[in-house]
Amino acid sequence: MKRRMAVFLTALLAALAVGTPAYAEPAVDPYQQYVDPGCLSRVEQPGVREFRDMIMSRIGGTNGGIFACSGYEHGEGRAWDWMRQAGDPNQAATVQTVLDWLLATDAAGNPHAMARRLGIGNIIWNRKSISLWTSSAKRWNDYPCDGSPGGCHTNHVHFAFSWAGARQQTTWFTTPDRPGHWYPGGQPPVAGDTAVSQSSAVINPANGNVQVYHNANGRLIETYWNATDGWVRHDLGIAITGAPSVIRNPANGNIQVYVNSGGQLAEIYWSPTDGWSGLNPLGGGITGHPYAVVNPTNQNVQVHYNANGQLAENYWTPSTGTWSGEHHLGGTVSGSPTVFVNPHNQNVQVHYNAGGQLAENYWSPADGWSGQKLLGGSIELPPGMWTPGYAALCCSVTVSRVRS
Ligand SMILES: [Zn+2]
Repeated sequence: MKRRMAVFLTALLAALAVGTPAYAEPAVDPYQQYVDPGCLSRVEQPGVREFRDMIMSRIGGTNGGIFACSGYEHGEGRAWDWMRQAGDPNQAATVQTVLDWLLATDAAGNPHAMARRLGIGNIIWNRKSISLWTSSAKRWNDYPCDGSPGGCHTNHVHFAFSWAGARQQTTWFTTPDRPGHWYPGGQPPVAGDTAVSQSSAVINPANGNVQVYHNANGRLIETYWNATDGWVRHDLGIAITGAPSVIRNPANGNIQVYVNSGGQLAEIYWSPTDGWSGLNPLGGGITGHPYAVVNPTNQNVQVHYNANGQLAENYWTPSTGTWSGEHHLGGTVSGSPTVFVNPHNQNVQVHYNAGGQLAENYWSPADGWSGQKLLGGSIELPPGMWTPGYAALCCSVTVSRVRS
């Protein structure tokens, strides 16, 4: 039963991930004290920078700056202006997403929970202002202004932080693995997983963690293990279809996760210096789930998938740091392909269901892609109901069929 070993390990890791106790959130921060801002020499506080970078990477928009001696918390580097046009429905909708997320009452009944976790004490947008300081009414009021877009904040959102938030001392900053709903657009946690995909795992040498990724209830979940914390579950807050696929990029040490996000191939990665990126769409249409591998010959990160019935790849090259875009490799695919590096010849072997037959297309260091080859036999399960599985034995590679 050696050929079932890889499948067994995958199932074991998935079972361990699902068995993790529910994540207990730290208590929400109190409302913050107002401190009359002064005007320092040019400074940007680290919590404000982190908030700015998170919003820019997750939502987009234009940075309007942190420091300015304008009489607000900008003078101490405690405020950020996010340039968004109130008159543009798409831009206004992205602002509303962020405001709804910041000001929502959490599952434990705490109003303005995310704003409090971040230490945000005042927001001004589109002729309205809300103050969350201890002494404030904590509701939206009309904001008297001079009629200009800047003065009336119809061309930007102003976020002001307490000193604790600015110094990264509130829980949004001090909680090491934030749940997904601590990010704008993230989805609230649900009690218990009702649907769990096949998992994909990697060992992260940067922190010694075993990191497992899977789809639970349509969201990308990371569950990691280390000797200090045991198993820790982390909802990355991203809606996905099917199973994720993870690799460690040897060129930069990043942990890179590939997903089907609303029918598009997308990537989210963790870097040793910056932590998690936002979701990065790679273009191209995808059916089912992607499968990523590092090509040992050229260190390319190759992602293979079913692109509307065609076998496709998109690869990242270390020398240029860029993606190739979607390439079609020929042949027809039902369901999702799997990829394997043959340790005997360094070939990258892609296996899939081609019209009910087990098929292979492999890349060899000397000759490149082979084109589709049918391996004989038929597949009895309906298309999409199985994926190939592997076991590398001492002297041969066995491809087996596994229900997905
Ligand atoms: Zn401002």
